[in-house]
Amino acid sequence: MTKSLYSKSLDDLTQELGLSKAYQAKQITAWLAKGARSWDEMSDLPQSLRQSMIERRVRVISSRIADRQDDRNASKLLIALSDGSLVECVMLSDRTGRKTACISSQVGCAMGCAFCKTGTMGLVRNLEDYEIVEQFVHLRTLDPTIGHIVFMGMGEPLNNPGALMRAITTFHRPDLFNISYRKMTVSTCGVVPGIRSLAELDLGVRLAVSLVSADDATRSRIMKVNRTWPLAELKKALLSFQHSGGKRITLEYCMLGGVNTSSAAAKDLASFTQGLQVVVNLIAWNPVDELDFRSPTTEEIRKFTSDLDHLRVPYTIRMSKGRGISGACGQLATSSRRIKA
Ligand code: SF4
Repeated sequence: MTKSLYSKSLDDLTQELGLSKAYQAKQITAWLAKGARSWDEMSDLPQSLRQSMIERRVRVISSRIADRQDDRNASKLLIALSDGSLVECVMLSDRTGRKTACISSQVGCAMGCAFCKTGTMGLVRNLEDYEIVEQFVHLRTLDPTIGHIVFMGMGEPLNNPGALMRAITTFHRPDLFNISYRKMTVSTCGVVPGIRSLAELDLGVRLAVSLVSADDATRSRIMKVNRTWPLAELKKALLSFQHSGGKRITLEYCMLGGVNTSSAAAKDLASFTQGLQVVVNLIAWNPVDELDFRSPTTEEIRKFTSDLDHLRVPYTIRMSKGRGISGACGQLATSSRRIKA
């Protein structure tokens, strides 16, 4: 039984649906590009074909919106998957009006970064490619102009590389969503083999790395990934990504009060960025009840940025959007993991 038409090639559609005319796959794809969720919407298909698909229980889309929360600059959707699992995705708006879809790649996450709410869930399962794509389809019902995608929701995308790459290909398809690779950003906590694979593919997708600390001891304490791939290995992988296409990399630096904003931390960061074409994205940690960190004080942020200025480290301070709806970085997690499908 076909669970979803999203992510299917024209050949897949023709063969799996048993279409008698090749152009019908193109017609269906045109409806998917508009975000169709049911056969009833596909009004240029013969009624008999639509009826037969409904009788065969061929689903157009596998998931549904279970809940929505809105903030001034962000809207968060809770998505119920066909097995009842839940994931979250967020539409972020910036000052210029640009809309970005922040999409999950897994239910939960195995990486267990100490500052991240999703990490407290553990890994429940990987998402299928169509489940990744469908989040974008649901978010586009909020605003059809969403043009950028960041794989920065729940999960570590490079731990689900097959589905991630198929979803990226689907987003890029001219007959579907036609989103250029450079408008897609893969965000990783530092899974080195995955970064190397992205470098080899050289698609032009952007890379963001959640760095959080440029000191091995501190990073290993709060990010387990660093025990497997320490900073020196991470830097080598970033250099190879950079050399593959000369693209600028973003280093996400979540500022944790009393942990990673000292002058020594700024020096470590300056030393890590040497030789890399990066911009550091500073984000003050968003409070999560059950986690034992605190947001940095205004004075800590002022001192840290002044140190970075002195050391000539390029950075931006990102005002965290979606904080009020727990849709900001590190805050995505579903409190109840399943819902009746
Ligand atoms: S920061 Fe990313 S990789 Fe780390 S636990 Fe959270 S979702 Fe997983």
